[in-house]
Parts: sequence; C-alpha cells; structure tokens
Amino acid sequence: MTQSYDEISTNSLGSMRQKLAKYFPIILCLAIAYGLVFYLSIKQHTPLQDVEALDSSDVKRGAEGGEEANGPFDETLTISSGDTLAGILERLGIPRTQAHEAIEALATVYNPKDLKVDQEIYVIYDTQVEGEGYDLKFLRIRTDLENDIELVRTGGGLFQATKYKKELKHAYVEVEGDIKVSLYVDALRAGASPKMLYDMIKAFSYDVDFQRDIQPGTTFSLFYDTYKDEESGLERAGELLSARLVIEDKPYEIFRFQPPGGVPGFYTSKGEAIQKALLRTPIDGARINSGFGNRKHPIQGYTKMHTGVDFGAPKGTPIMAAGDGVVERCNHFGGYGNYICIRHNGNTKTAYAHLSRYAKGVSRGGKVRQGQIIGYVGTTGNSTGPHLHFELIQNGKRVNPKKVTQLPKSKLLGTALTKYKSFITKIEKIKTDLKKPEMRLKADSNSIPASLGGA
Ligand SMILES: [Zn+2]
Repeated sequence: MTQSYDEISTNSLGSMRQKLAKYFPIILCLAIAYGLVFYLSIKQHTPLQDVEALDSSDVKRGAEGGEEANGPFDETLTISSGDTLAGILERLGIPRTQAHEAIEALATVYNPKDLKVDQEIYVIYDTQVEGEGYDLKFLRIRTDLENDIELVRTGGGLFQATKYKKELKHAYVEVEGDIKVSLYVDALRAGASPKMLYDMIKAFSYDVDFQRDIQPGTTFSLFYDTYKDEESGLERAGELLSARLVIEDKPYEIFRFQPPGGVPGFYTSKGEAIQKALLRTPIDGARINSGFGNRKHPIQGYTKMHTGVDFGAPKGTPIMAAGDGVVERCNHFGGYGNYICIRHNGNTKTAYAHLSRYAKGVSRGGKVRQGQIIGYVGTTGNSTGPHLHFELIQNGKRVNPKKVTQLPKSKLLGTALTKYKSFITKIEKIKTDLKKPEMRLKADSNSIPASLGGA
C-alpha cells in the first residue's frame, strides 16, 4: 500500500486550533460552574420563608475560627470525589440518627447516590439546645437545571423533602457563521450548544467529508430550541430542528422531522432521509484536524498513488463502522498496522488502518452496526502521525469514496411529504421572525410546531 499521510499540521494555527478544541469543553464547564456558584450565592440572600423561626439576618456564614458564634449557620458545600451525604452531614456535626432521618426523608424525592462531584449543597444548621452537635434545619440540592430539592425540618423535628420543578422559558435560537478554523471551533465560538453541534456533525457525516470538503469560507447555521431558567440564566438545548452547511456555494440543508407513525430523523429539503448505506466521515468529525491552513503538508485524499482517504485526528479518537456489516479482518496487517475490514451488503467493503486499538467486542466474524465504535485512531504500521486511513473497496478494487453516489435509505412520500413541506415552511417562518428585531423579544411565545409531535 502507498502511505501518503505526512506529518499532521505543526503550524501554530493548527496547534492553536487543536488546543482550543481540546480545552473548549473545560472552559465551558468552568463557565457553567461559575454560573451555578453565582446562582447559589444569589439564592443565599433570598429570605428563607420556608424555615420556621429563621430570619435571613440571623444567618451567619459558617463558624469561623476563634470563638464560636451562635447559630444558625449556613454553608454551601461542594461534593468531592468519594463524598456521601451521610459523610458530609457527619462532618458538619449533625448527629448520626438525625442525619439518617434527613437522608430517609430526602430519599422519597431524590436518590442521594445521584450526587455528582462539584455539585453544591446549601445547608442551614444550628447549635443544639441540649447536646454538643448541631441540628440540621434546611438543605437544598439543585439536581439539574429544572429541579431543586429542598429538605426542611418542621417544628416537630421531622424532615420533609420537596421537589420543585422550575418553569423554563422556551425559545428558538439560530447560530450562524463562517468557518475559519473548523466547524467545531467556529460554531462553538459563535455560541452554539455543544450538544446541538454534535448532532449536526453526526447528521452531516453521511454526506460530508469533514477532512476535505470543509474549506475556509464554508458557512454554517444551526437552528434549535432552548429551555432557559431566567433566574440563573442557565439554559439547556432542546432539539436541533434544522442545520445548514454551504460548501463552495452548494447548500446542504437538513430538517428534523417525525413522519406520521415513524421516528424523528433528519431529512434533506427534498424529503430524503440523510441516512446512507455508508458514512463519508467514519470518525468523530469534531476532532478532525482540518487540512486548511496547512500548506506545507497538505492532507491528501484518494489519488492513484494513495488508495484511500486519511483523516487526521488525535490518538484515541473513536472510529465508527461506516455501515452495517460483518467484520472480515481485525488484526495487525503489515504496513496498515492494526487493521479492520468490514464486509457490507453486496460487493462493498470498508477498511480502517493504523488503529491504536480495537473497540471491545469487535472481532472477526462479528456483526457491526453503522456508527458503532470499532476502534480508535493511532499510528501503528507504516504511518507518520495519528490518523485514520480509510478505504472503500468495491468488487475487490479500492475506489474513491467521493465518486460513489449513494441512495438515501428512505424518502418521504405522499401525505408524509406534504406534511414535511408545510413543516419546513413553519420552520422558515420562525427563522425569519427571529431575525426581525421586534420579534426577538417575544420569540419565546412560539410553541413547538405540532408536526414535531411533541418529540
Ligand atoms: Zn492513508
């Protein structure tokens, strides 16, 4: 075999992009964590009407060194790895039997085992009238964006737990932009939700080669709905409703639609399901090192000398089966290094080379499904850097995947197509309205289109 994969981008743009892509989730987590801390700090200053005989002005923050102040005290505790609710209450000085009662009451609405590292718990406790410990008065856990759990100690000393569901504001969002670095980096910079972006990349992986097709000047657009907690400003994305890529003036547009009696999925504007027999990008498209800006070592695609396409991505990036099939080979294979070959229906096979390792459960003779993770990017065999060498083999010959036209797996027809067309019209109208400045303020009043079937 011919190996044409040269060193992956070493220029500063490339490495900056890789760093950004690598640290973006961390930055995002920090931003969310900061938002949560801010929210909790605001919450602490709201009057505590629920708590009997407590006035917020009586609440002092923690018992700080030196002489012990009189209670009640309040504290925001952060869950560390290995923490349990019982352990935390014990550290606060809450007697074991009381802590047990508190957890029992809490367990009626919340599983204390669901506590996650870095989650915060707000507690109010007071010195015991008799005894050396403290009495737990109040505890609040924000389990997620929509739910708060509150535990209150009633006058009789019994604990009562309540789950509060927050009213979230529904709205639509459109995020648009030009690709300068990569779809992943630029869409996140433009403010796209990471989950929506992931859904978009996955949906376009059937048609788009994220290594070679995406070029500077490609434009993108994501349209989805969100649910926002106005108090904290935190929001969660709902569903990706439509997405668009314009590559060299050619638009690729998809809409999420649930056909009558069917399951929701993405369709082209003509009503063809996006699913094809084979993925063009059989790897997490977000992690691909885009070739552009890399003139010194262009990443080559299929040529006469090089009978496959290379996807440059960090070691360990998951590789997916391009289509349903049976594993024909899964072993070390000369210059290909760790190698997998899958036989699909008919005379088509796909091969994956230079893997660092195989996914669990993948072995010769076994069945795989399209999108299933079969292995991980590496640089084994005759390779100069981590990448996936991907081959499409038809009737025993290696062919250029770009030249193979694939039929969609299904198409909307009749009533389904009519419904789909009117659904697209609705989506386009919401999008147009969103762009009118006077509509931005009341964009939330739009309800989810009925054709989504409440999905
Ligand atoms: Zn190659």
